[in-house]
Amino acid sequence: MDMSSAIHATVSAGSKGDVLSSYAETYDRSIREPELFWADQIGRIYWQVPPAVVLDASHPPFRRWFVGGLTNLCYNAVDRHVTDRGDQLALVAISTETNTTREITYRELHDEVNRFAAILTHLEVGKGDRVIIYMPNVAEAAFAMLACARIGAIHSVVFGGFAAHNLAVRIDDAEPKLLITADAGMRGGKVIPYKPLVDKAIEESMAPPRNVLVVSRGLDPDLAWMPGRDHDYWAMRDRLADARVPVEWLESNEPSYLLYTSGTTGRPKGVQRDVGGYAVALALSMETVFDIAPGQVMFSTSDVGWAVGHSYNVYGPLLLGATSLLYEGLPICPDAGIWWSLCAKYGVRTMFSSPTAIRVLKKSDPDFIHRHDLSQLKYLFLAGEPLDEPTAEWIAQALGKPVIDNYWQTETGWPAITLQPGLEMRPVKFGSPGFPNLGYKMKVVDEHTGQRVKPGQKGVLVFELPLPPGFMTTIWRDDKRYITSYFQHFRECVYSSLDWAIQDEGGYTFILGRTDDVINVAGHRLGTREIEESVAECSDVAEAAVIGVPDEIKGQVPVVFATLRGATAEQGARTNAANAMRQSVENRLGALARPARVYIVNALPKTRSGKLLRRSLQALVMEKDPGDLSTLDDPNSLEEVRGALRRGPDAGS
Ligand code: AMP
Repeated sequence: MDMSSAIHATVSAGSKGDVLSSYAETYDRSIREPELFWADQIGRIYWQVPPAVVLDASHPPFRRWFVGGLTNLCYNAVDRHVTDRGDQLALVAISTETNTTREITYRELHDEVNRFAAILTHLEVGKGDRVIIYMPNVAEAAFAMLACARIGAIHSVVFGGFAAHNLAVRIDDAEPKLLITADAGMRGGKVIPYKPLVDKAIEESMAPPRNVLVVSRGLDPDLAWMPGRDHDYWAMRDRLADARVPVEWLESNEPSYLLYTSGTTGRPKGVQRDVGGYAVALALSMETVFDIAPGQVMFSTSDVGWAVGHSYNVYGPLLLGATSLLYEGLPICPDAGIWWSLCAKYGVRTMFSSPTAIRVLKKSDPDFIHRHDLSQLKYLFLAGEPLDEPTAEWIAQALGKPVIDNYWQTETGWPAITLQPGLEMRPVKFGSPGFPNLGYKMKVVDEHTGQRVKPGQKGVLVFELPLPPGFMTTIWRDDKRYITSYFQHFRECVYSSLDWAIQDEGGYTFILGRTDDVINVAGHRLGTREIEESVAECSDVAEAAVIGVPDEIKGQVPVVFATLRGATAEQGARTNAANAMRQSVENRLGALARPARVYIVNALPKTRSGKLLRRSLQALVMEKDPGDLSTLDDPNSLEEVRGALRRGPDAGS
């Protein structure tokens, strides 16, 4: 569809698109006439060259939005605001670990990003090159992302809590030209060196970056430099203090970034995002979902290493000319009032966090909330994992504000199911994130037939084509895996979320957990296969099965059942082996993945064809019916597991 005349009209008018009316009407239009709907949204961002075609869906399941348009995420997030909002705060980076607050205006952000971009070009990074950013949640991580976007380099932020092996796997897949890191992060007052992990990951990697840029925070006195490879950020920044780097205009569908996420295999998937579609979707959602206008303040407590951090700590608020708060530290340090004191100090309008964080806060007296002036705070959004009713009710009552559950995935890039107070506030129904977001043609289907199930019936949550702007475009360098991972579960070519769901008579959707072997620990997605592979690294382990079991704070935690090579009778030896397994996972994947408990058994429940029956294991742990066991190979294995559960874990508690 050639929309150039409509687009020119929208862009030149500088409008935000049609005035959006009620949710039902707007949603309906976004589904019935996606091209017209999204053509109306194009003017939300600046285009150096407007798109020629709104949507090219000629090669499903792929689609290209805003074809031919030239734009740039950094220009839209930074440069565009310098004239009108130069003195307004763009980013406030608070660390209760180092006790620092950095208030950065749009003009200062422009300077910092230009310096950073100059460093990148100096280190020979150019358009299309990958840059891995392995950083704590500090301002320089955001500068690095924006600088990459400025020059058309593809950033891939790796969560700082991941260990060396996890980083190495991502290095090998992304083949970065440069890796940006810090000397250390901090957690709960403890310094956590990053650089030794980078050195170890590079040693393990098959495609190491030529250069490493180190942002030293003065936290690690033993910081070691490898001459020729490692570069000091501060020295380079001084040398390039006045640098200006031109913006690289990118075609809307060129890659902006990669973000790795866990799947059912041990190999993480490089979720690839575009430029123009992503920017338009974020700009729309800032208004419709998060109800933020330019100049207002948003506080997302996410780490920049996650999808929420990309979209609503960095790009979303800045695209709009809003102010974004970035936080390094625990939610309860120096006390459980810290986040609310920041809301009061900066006049935060919309706050975004996770159910796990609220469960942590729930252990404290709500007076920590009440003693702060929260008159400007309008909403609390929570995402990343199921929001249980007691937690939602507690925080809603303590705050006296709407608490909005928000469903999305790394793949979607922005909320897929949510209430939209910026458009029309519908009543909150605890346990449900609400209704599909604009452009998301959602349905719940039978797991076998792929047919839509009736309201109230459980099925798999899928999205019909075309997927909206902002949604992932493919898996990095692996179109085939993109198709097999997401689009071949049913006869009809639809995106499978791999989540169970129920839609009620009123249209509210409830998410019931994953259909695959992925677990969600404190809002972070982990593949059980990745953990099993790390357990199997221990030489005395014969085989391991990992499942997620409910946890009061973290939602789910990993639990290991393992068989050992040779005899396992002696308890001391079993405890040592079980502890070694927990340590191995922590060393390879990070503390987040550390198993809560390890049980050593003589046999694992498997099918005759050798497939681990993780669901039966999970049912046994939860004292439920283990389900269909017709394919079970060794009936004794169930007794083994029951016996181990009665005895208690060999490590963990
Ligand atoms: P990630 O890609 O790490 O953000 O994880 C996405 C997964 O987290 C989804 O597939 C869901 O299983 C889960 N998830 C995210 N948001 C919610 C929510 N609001 N309610 C229930 N589950 C959620």
